[in-house]
Parts: sequence; C-alpha cells; structure tokens
Amino acid sequence: MINTETNYRWFIFYQDQLLLEKNDNAFSIPTGKNAPVTTSEGITVHTITTATGMVCKAFYTDSPIAETPEYVQIGLRASYDYLSPEHYQAAGKVHEILYWDRSNRFCPTCGTPLVQKEPIMKKCPNCGREIYPVISTAILVLVRKEDSLLLVHARNFKGTFNSLVAGFLETGETLEECVAREVKEETGLDVKNIRYFGSQPWPYPSGLMVGFIADYAGGDIHLQDDELSSGNFYTRDHLPELPRKLSLARKMIDWWIAQQ
Ligand SMILES: [Zn+2]
Repeated sequence: MINTETNYRWFIFYQDQLLLEKNDNAFSIPTGKNAPVTTSEGITVHTITTATGMVCKAFYTDSPIAETPEYVQIGLRASYDYLSPEHYQAAGKVHEILYWDRSNRFCPTCGTPLVQKEPIMKKCPNCGREIYPVISTAILVLVRKEDSLLLVHARNFKGTFNSLVAGFLETGETLEECVAREVKEETGLDVKNIRYFGSQPWPYPSGLMVGFIADYAGGDIHLQDDELSSGNFYTRDHLPELPRKLSLARKMIDWWIAQQ
C-alpha cells in the first residue's frame, strides 16, 4: 500500500512527452517523496488528485529530459501501450491541467497575471474573473446501414486508418444536432435513431469525445473534400485498417463487429 503522504506519483511532461521509469522491460510512472528530476526555479508543481484518489504531482519542463538508464520520455498517446488504464487516464488529466496552466497566464478581460487559487481555478487579482479549464466537446458517430457501417478517412488523421465521422460541438447546439449536422456536412447522408454510446476524455490537448450510434436514413455519399479523403459503408468481412485500441472510435467499432 502506497503512503500518499510521502510517496507521490510524478507526472513530468516536456510538451506531450511523459517521463517514465524503466523497470526491466516495462515502464511506470515514477514515485517518491521528491521529484525524480530537479525542478527549475519558479516552476509550479501541481498537486492533482484523480477520481480514484491517486495523488499526482505534476510539472512541465522547458526542455526535453535526456534518456538515462533509469528514465525515458514517451509520447502521451504511446504511453497507453505501457501504462495501466488508471495511470494512462491520470496522465491525460494531468496533461490537460498543465496545458491549461501554461495557456492561461493572463486575465482575458484585463490582462493582469492570474493567480492560481485552486487545483483547477485561477483568479484575476484585479477584476476578480475566475478561469477554469475549458473542455472542447467532440462527437463520434457510428452510422449503420443494414449489415454495414460508415467509415471515413479524414485528412487530419495521423495514419492510413479509417474511422467514424467526428466533429466539434458548436455553440447553441445539442449533441444530437451536432451528430446529424456533422454526418450531413461530411458525407451528405441523413441519419435517424441517434443514441448515446459512451464518452472518453481526449487529452490532445483538452477534449471530450462523446460517442453515438445512428442509423442511415437516406441520401448518397458526397464527401466534404477539404475534410475527408474517403468514406464508404463496409461490411464486417471487408473492413479497412481501423484506429488504434486506445480510442473510443475503436471501442465502438469493436462493439459493432461483435453484434450479429
Ligand atoms: Zn482581470
């Protein structure tokens, strides 16, 4: 049992590169009373408690940390392959807060330097404005048509895989309206029976993915050229390359594949 009073887990980032401790052939989040690397002067060391009660200490470094026999830095996305789900989710939460801290240094109303008041709240000492982390909400939608599903390749995908239609929620819009609009804009199709599937924090840099299942309701595929390079309905036995396991999109596709 770890004594959380003195044995913190240290989440140390340089940009999206997370410092991990090497243990034989595995990697883990460094633990201990003190940081595993020296902190530079004036740096804010954040104390962040996760939903499961894990106490995390966290800070950003201004330069990469050189690999040693004990430590190595690995991209947050890639850390999914090495960390437990709990630690990967904690790393994402920490990264969102560090990103928020660095991108919110001055009051957006009057320009005064902000003061950190609570783990996720800063306050302007001049005008009193309070600043919290902003989460960008995006939808994902699995569109079913008979025994096939709609997969697209977006031009901004990092790779050749195909995935679900996705897009950012706009102001004044419900999630279901967002689903219908994104499918229509990107593929020209109409959908019906829009139902919630699940959600996933998406800390790249600070998002929330909300997944929906929908059924094809009409129309022919007309791709939005500047966003998508391909889009088609695929049956289970003719699926193209799929996204990696860490994504909600893949979880939804795997769920659909398992349906008869
Ligand atoms: Zn202000």
